[in-house]
Amino acid sequence: MSTEKLPTRAENFAEWYNQLVIKAELADYAPVRGCMVVRPYGWTLWENIQQALDRRFKATGHVNAAFPLFIPMSFLEKEKEHVEGFSPELAIVTIGGGEKLEEPLVVRPTSETVIGAMYSKWIKSYRDLPVLINQWGNVVRWEMRTKLFLRTLEFYWQEGHTAHATAAEAEEETIRMLDVYTDFAVNDGAVPVVPGRKSEAEKFAGAVRSYTIEAMMQDTRALQSGTSHFLGQNFAKAFDIQFLDWNNQLQYVWTTSWGLSTRFIGAIIMAHGDDQGLVLPPKLAPFQAVVVPIYKNDLEKTKVMEVVEQVRQELSGFRLQVDTREELTPGFKFNDWELRGVPLRIEIGPKDIEKGTVAFARRDLPGKTGKSFVPHTQLEGRVAELLQTIQASLYERALSFRQAHTSEPQDYAELAQVVQNGWALSWWCGSPDCEAKVKEETKASTRCIPMEQPGGEGICIVCGAKATEKVIFARSY
Ligand SMILES: [Zn+2]
Repeated sequence: MSTEKLPTRAENFAEWYNQLVIKAELADYAPVRGCMVVRPYGWTLWENIQQALDRRFKATGHVNAAFPLFIPMSFLEKEKEHVEGFSPELAIVTIGGGEKLEEPLVVRPTSETVIGAMYSKWIKSYRDLPVLINQWGNVVRWEMRTKLFLRTLEFYWQEGHTAHATAAEAEEETIRMLDVYTDFAVNDGAVPVVPGRKSEAEKFAGAVRSYTIEAMMQDTRALQSGTSHFLGQNFAKAFDIQFLDWNNQLQYVWTTSWGLSTRFIGAIIMAHGDDQGLVLPPKLAPFQAVVVPIYKNDLEKTKVMEVVEQVRQELSGFRLQVDTREELTPGFKFNDWELRGVPLRIEIGPKDIEKGTVAFARRDLPGKTGKSFVPHTQLEGRVAELLQTIQASLYERALSFRQAHTSEPQDYAELAQVVQNGWALSWWCGSPDCEAKVKEETKASTRCIPMEQPGGEGICIVCGAKATEKVIFARSY
């Protein structure tokens, strides 16, 4: 715990983020450069994210399994684009048990290859399809520039890997999981996202088509928050995953993969946080409410703690923390829980007890606006109602912010200007040259071609050629 103030977001957004992650005790820097230690508060947040997603995966027919951390180097080399894309980021083990290995082992950067090898063994007939497996785990990508949660050498995630009898079924699955991510981000994370398709240049190494959900952070940069890939038959051919179809013909399966990682914690921090600290969405917050008892002497303490105990029992259906730390003042505790982003603070002091009420303070509305006094008899209902209100208002606020910082520029000059502090939604002809020019000259990349399109056609904002789709250009993490 530190009493030093955070820099404000306006002063230095990057520093605000870095210090907040440390001070709120979400994560810390590990002894190895670029690695991250996720502390209990951050891990509880991740566990809540896991549960929210896992529930949705199970509801759409998926099951969990675990595949190995080590992958033979030769596996990665079987899919040309895949190995080209991941080679610069690989960690490779050459010695095991003191002896040089016959074949180097890659520490998995993602598991398409090893899972593909297993699927070729397990899938024989159309009766074995579809295979709908998800894995919760960690992966390693040797990144040069790292930032806690957003880009670290090792990170935690889930990766879904499915195999299907037809292309149509696999494409349907790809979109279904994109929708699952959107639903999770919006309804549990309170993070508005734009679901869309990645350009050829931005797609996953080895995919036919990649889809993404993109979120705007409060510095207006985009954060890719989850991806879903249609892999066609690329991995099926590389790993010989074949099945006998209904007509007894041997065919390659169609596969997908999709992932969401601890990066999403970064999205929550940067979409909702304020100058006082984290502002966590109630559905995912480790603690939904914190009770701070207030007393000056032992007599008051006895009375107050009696009511605190009643409140604790009445609110047992919520994730509740009672702050009984003796050596700290209430004021210090208020700041501490504000820093940690607990959605609702409940203050109980002698005056409140006399009046038969407790004081509520909303984290998303600091100061008097967020204060209210609630009779003991209405606690449970009011907490439930307020948490819902907070959840909804966080989403609305983030959505208004994104709308206020998204423009449809008229020409290239305006585009170049807009992306310095926002997103640009523009017609694009689809040419990689136009995309590269924007990136080179403005640092903004294509984030996605939104699923929701205006229809009709326009002219490419870069080259003036005919265009049938709009794309989001933005600077990104
Ligand atoms: Zn163009």
